[in-house]
Amino acid sequence: MELTLDLTGRRVVVIGDPRVARRSLARYVAAGAVVFSASPARGAVPSGVRSVEFPSSVIGWRHLVSAVDLVVAVAVPDDASRVMAEVCQELRTWCTREEPSATASVGHVTLVGGGPGNEGLLTAAGKDALRRADVIFYDRLGPHEHLAEWAPGAELINVGKTPGHHAVPQHEIERRVVESALAGNTVARLKGGDPFVFGRGGEEVIACRKAGVPVTVISGVTSAISVPAAAGIPVTHREISRILTIVSGHAPLSEDELAHLVGLDSTIVVLMGVTTLPHLAAGLVRHGMRADMPVAVIERGFSETQRTTTGTVSDIVEVANAAGARSPAVLVIGEVVRLSQDDGVASDVLQHTVTLATQG
Ligand code: SAH
Repeated sequence: MELTLDLTGRRVVVIGDPRVARRSLARYVAAGAVVFSASPARGAVPSGVRSVEFPSSVIGWRHLVSAVDLVVAVAVPDDASRVMAEVCQELRTWCTREEPSATASVGHVTLVGGGPGNEGLLTAAGKDALRRADVIFYDRLGPHEHLAEWAPGAELINVGKTPGHHAVPQHEIERRVVESALAGNTVARLKGGDPFVFGRGGEEVIACRKAGVPVTVISGVTSAISVPAAAGIPVTHREISRILTIVSGHAPLSEDELAHLVGLDSTIVVLMGVTTLPHLAAGLVRHGMRADMPVAVIERGFSETQRTTTGTVSDIVEVANAAGARSPAVLVIGEVVRLSQDDGVASDVLQHTVTLATQG
């Protein structure tokens, strides 16, 4: 169970070595509480935290517990933990236990797939990793508006494009992520969609491994599938499409690639493909794709300004230009696009799908 409490001005004592409790201490400071640290072992406390004596008797515990609103225990020795719990019970003071931070000299990196921008599509594991992080590297492609709320106390570092600034180059991101983990931090690298779908996640994993930094990857909901779904397009559909090809439109495809794509007769989903759409559409037609093959361009999926523009492989360039379609957008090329449209047979097929989905 999770409770959200307003801790502004409340007195919170964090019991435990400040080195292993550093994340908890930072979080309560960030929440606006008056934070005390009571540790059996003396260690430097972070700024904004006052050090108080660790109680050595039941009376000492009563004295401390009665002076605060919340007691937070982080790796407290068993005997002290027992007394502390009894005194909290007796004085009816809230008491909670939290996980210690890693004290190993090397921290840990988690690549978190943030999904396509909708908070509901960030996985529970991803959210958990953000909550545990000391440092989060993010960019505009991941859902970042609520980071301060999801990871209070974490240091938030924007490595994406900001107005007037270029994005931090990939090798520099890798260097900074590794450096932070080597300094002992629990690092989360938040990425848009899935880290391994055109997200350069593989490169970041290799950089961590090379540096001896343990790394975990939490998959995310990729825009390649979820953005078409948000526009009512299933990327596969029984008897319509049983092959799905996800293509990067970052650079134009070669003649060979275009020929293979047409030959596959699959649903083609293109990411980063707005700029190269003229080359792609012309190439597909040149290699024999039917001129009336449906195409959808879905811009800014899951935002309030999400927009779908549809056409055929022969007129989509003109239609998208006229509509002023811009990145970020997901392109879908294939018969499945018809399933989102309210016409004839396609509409029956879609209704069938919806019925199945409701039946669960
Ligand atoms: N790893 C990401 C993709 C990164 S490439 C994933 O799995 O989704 C970036 C491209 O993803 C964008 O150019 C665009 O084509 C697509 N994209 C990501 N989020 C999107 C969204 N909310 N709406 C439309 N396109 C999106």
